[in-house]
Amino acid sequence: MMNSDIYMALKESAGGDCVLCNEPLAKRTTFRVGGSADYFVLAKDAEVIKKVILVCISGHVPYYILGNGSNILAGDGGYRGVIIQIGKHMSAIEVREDGSICAQAGALLSKIAHAAYENSLGGFEFAAGIPGTIGGAIVMNAGAYGGEMKDVVKNVTALTKDNEIRILSNEEMQFAYRTSAAAENGYVVLEAKIQLRRGVKKEIKALMDDLKSRRAAKQPLEFPSAGSTFKRPEGHFAGKLIEEAGLRGFSVGMAQVSKKHCGFVINKGGASAKDVADLMDEIIKRVKAVSGIELEPEVKRLGEF
Ligand code: FAD
Repeated sequence: MMNSDIYMALKESAGGDCVLCNEPLAKRTTFRVGGSADYFVLAKDAEVIKKVILVCISGHVPYYILGNGSNILAGDGGYRGVIIQIGKHMSAIEVREDGSICAQAGALLSKIAHAAYENSLGGFEFAAGIPGTIGGAIVMNAGAYGGEMKDVVKNVTALTKDNEIRILSNEEMQFAYRTSAAAENGYVVLEAKIQLRRGVKKEIKALMDDLKSRRAAKQPLEFPSAGSTFKRPEGHFAGKLIEEAGLRGFSVGMAQVSKKHCGFVINKGGASAKDVADLMDEIIKRVKAVSGIELEPEVKRLGEF
């Protein structure tokens, strides 16, 4: 397909206002680095996503599903293809009588946590400070302070690789440390039902406030990053291994191992994706040399480097 044909087909599938060209990924990811995506679609429902994927498949154009971009390192060369963002246009949250919450995939965890609190539902406090969508959190089985998505997800409505919509139970989602069946099988998460428990509003608020201040005290939230850069190796903490390798504050270009929390690579201002990627490679090499342990990135690379 010619570029102009793809653009027209995307506009027809997603709606004219919802297709952007040459969209800077630095604007769409929390690391604030990366070049532009050829096309950027703001998805508003499952039908749009299905149609856009079909356009991509029939036009032999790569596509990528993006949530809030808080676990992504986008390359300086940008992305040759179509980014389908499931974000605020698909972010409805419905609290039900039975203590469950149904949320579209683009709903932010902070918003869901707030809705839970407003309705005296406990069990989601751990997720309030994770800056992602519930779709991205389900794919990653995001977790913090002893909780993870696995503990609260009742079921997930997803689009399979065959473009079929399926409802998957918690077991079928095969949640494991920072992964799930959605990550393994390329499901597009459309919606999730989470089951919470009746709680006391004051206590829910107190726990959320406590976790928020613990985050602010320990994490370099004042700098762009993608959270913990590496997965936790079994029996160890990535941050501690990085510190023991003498890398606290170590920089490549404008990317730096946070002085506040060595598990975070931060963008000090104006870093390139190459700075971040080179720093990550150097960390892996030096930690391996000192401890014998090979760190695995938690952050996902997107596009051309
Ligand atoms: P994105 O980063 O946009 O995408 C992540 C992955 O999910 C990609 O592979 C993408 O293709 C896929 N994806 C996104 N949405 C969908 C969808 N609807 N369907 C299918 N695939 C999809 N993570 C933790 O686990 N715990 C923490 O405590 C934590 N703290 C953080 C603190 C900071 C300051 C930052 C910047 C990040 C932190 N993170 C943490 C990382 C990140 O917020 C989580 O991984 C989050 O769940 C990612 O959600 P997202 O919507 O931003 O997904």
